[in-house]
Amino acid sequence: MTQKKILIIHTGGTFVMESNEKGLLTPGNYALEYISERIKPLFDAEIAQEQLFNLDSSLFRPSHWVKIAEHIAKNYDLYDGFVVIHGTDTMAYTASALSFMLKNLGKPVVMTGAQLPLIDRRSDAFMNLVDAMEVAINSDLNEVVLLFNHTVFRGNRAKKKDAWDFDAFYSPNYNALIKLGIGMESKKHRFLPKPAEKFEIDTRLMEQVVIIPFFPGIDFSTFSVMVRNKKVRGIVIEAYGSGNIPSDNPGLEELFKDAAENCVPIAVCSQSPIGKVNLRLYDVASKAEFYGLISAVDMTREATLVKMMVALGRYSDINEIKKFMMKNCAGEKENENVG
Ligand code: ASP
Repeated sequence: MTQKKILIIHTGGTFVMESNEKGLLTPGNYALEYISERIKPLFDAEIAQEQLFNLDSSLFRPSHWVKIAEHIAKNYDLYDGFVVIHGTDTMAYTASALSFMLKNLGKPVVMTGAQLPLIDRRSDAFMNLVDAMEVAINSDLNEVVLLFNHTVFRGNRAKKKDAWDFDAFYSPNYNALIKLGIGMESKKHRFLPKPAEKFEIDTRLMEQVVIIPFFPGIDFSTFSVMVRNKKVRGIVIEAYGSGNIPSDNPGLEELFKDAAENCVPIAVCSQSPIGKVNLRLYDVASKAEFYGLISAVDMTREATLVKMMVALGRYSDINEIKKFMMKNCAGEKENENVG
């Protein structure tokens, strides 16, 4: 059998960090050499590495997502799989963005990172990268996944849940795709199918989206001003429980009217990560339907936000934007939109 070809793309994160003179973690420059010397020889595969950036992922903007997607697209035909090393803080956002931008993906894109730097003697980086390589080489995945703590999650379903534990990620509304123990246990019925169409890249997006996390006493007027001034082109509401919103709040109704007048779509996701939004359950949510709000159903807040940016970048017609938001594009939500 011919050797598989894997490209490791470095973008930074704790994985490659070291302590500076103040004792604070900052990106280091040792990872490429370390991997060449100690990890590459473990695999019977052709492994190349490239450093795209070396940043704490909290510095990432959507332009970084675009650069990663473009780099994968540029190298798509040259490799059998890709491993992206990324900071854990915003990895779920990047994974969601790549899942929408890399259309008809027919190869694995495995994102991973670490809670402790590779050079720390207790680091999880070594094992996460070895697992990620294993998955990139030996799985039949055709999608963007996030690997952490011996578990593979669909990228646009994953969330960072823990800032301390090595078990830092989960995918609350979609079970893990692969579990790595003494073997590799693949749940293939959960994988995305091999695409029938040709791979393509579409990186269009619009950044002017806000998330509004609801809380008792929230003042909506600032958001209305942002909508009227066209500073905001899309809104993601983080509602309570199953999508409940304080419908009788005049400020909120004002915001809905301003959004409707300015063709600003509003999607509703939940502050409760497990479960799904159902705007037809409680009376308080009834105005949501009246004003044409879009249910995120079981999408994570990360996927909902990124999808809204992508929808606004691809479509100008509000109905097209809503249609895209309600569609299951890359396995980010359940198929049926139950409202
Ligand atoms: N601040 C780091 C980052 O996201 C955290 C990590 O990688 O674990 O880049």
